[in-house]
Amino acid sequence: MREYKIAVLPGDGIGPEVTREAVKVLERIAEMDSSFRFKTKNFNWNSEYYLEHGKMMPEDGLEQLKEFDAILFGAIGDPRVPDPVSIWELILPIRKNFQQFINFRPVKLLQGLESTLKKEVPIDFVIVRENSEGEYTESGGAMFHGETREMALQNMVMTRQGVEQIARFAYDYARANGREKVTNATKSNVMLHTMTFWDRLVEEVAAENKDIDYERYYIDALAAYFVQRPETFDVVLASNLFGDILSDLGSAIVGGLGLAPSGNINPLGEFPSMFEAVHGSAPDIAGKGIANPIAQIWSAALMLEHLGRKDLHDLVLQAIEEVLVEKKVLTPDIGGNATTADVGDAISDKLERIG
Ligand code: ATP
Ligand code: MG
Repeated sequence: MREYKIAVLPGDGIGPEVTREAVKVLERIAEMDSSFRFKTKNFNWNSEYYLEHGKMMPEDGLEQLKEFDAILFGAIGDPRVPDPVSIWELILPIRKNFQQFINFRPVKLLQGLESTLKKEVPIDFVIVRENSEGEYTESGGAMFHGETREMALQNMVMTRQGVEQIARFAYDYARANGREKVTNATKSNVMLHTMTFWDRLVEEVAAENKDIDYERYYIDALAAYFVQRPETFDVVLASNLFGDILSDLGSAIVGGLGLAPSGNINPLGEFPSMFEAVHGSAPDIAGKGIANPIAQIWSAALMLEHLGRKDLHDLVLQAIEEVLVEKKVLTPDIGGNATTADVGDAISDKLERIG
């Protein structure tokens, strides 16, 4: 029997609430299929831990996580802890050390949902976001010479290896999943050093993959096209900052943050990949039991796909869609009055019926 070791970091706010439902679904799947099981271990590295220990995780935290096949991550964020602490001391060290250089975000209008755009078009594309360099680096500084001579510099780093590997992933993913087009998000008309370099390398990779269409848009125009004609995209390839912005926009057009999953992927599998809902800890609704768990359950499904079980990913997605189509058990953010646990139960029961 194959055993998958999963590290679970539930985090803060609604993180533990939605993660509990995702684990519930994973356990139900394992009960249905005797060829494998999950061994999960919970880690309480969250804001509470920080307030007690003065750090987000123990010194050997990364060493501990390295042993796992994958990580399921809730959300971190607490009004008592400044945002940069959790980002720079927990999330980014995991992403960087485990070389999760791909952030993978499906933008798919599930059956049973209406797009906020109020248009009846199928929306089904993925955003492949560079996750380790680009605009988000520690390089830079601020200078304060009295009131009149203040300035700040923030450097952006793009390496041939970094750009090539994300571009190759976008094309490999497109080919393996029957996608026909890669759209490059750029701003090389203004960012003359980095984005021109990005374009050149992306287009080298495009030239090696002529069976898949290629197009390039400036990020400002592309953001508008997400709203005007989202049905025309297939795989959208973007740098760290552009991908970050596009993926919030993407989640907004298909029903909101409660439905947006993501994976931070180390494609060669030397280190664990990490799966998490796009949303944060949502302190405003934490503790009320009304958070939508679908984003996190779908993230767990992406984890199954990454572990080589695309069949199980598809099964979970089908169960989610059937629950949405029935419209009986929905959380308030999508017009229902069910609880987080009700939705987790409904999806688990569906799985059993269709699986
Ligand atoms: P953080 O500081 O951790 O990023 P946040 O206050 O920015 O938290 P988000 O989780 O990013 O909150 O989401 C913004 C708002 O969207 C929340 O305040 C909440 O009302 C809503 N929201 C987010 N996730 C969900 C969810 N799973 N179900 C229902 N509503 C959600
Ligand atoms: Mg937030």
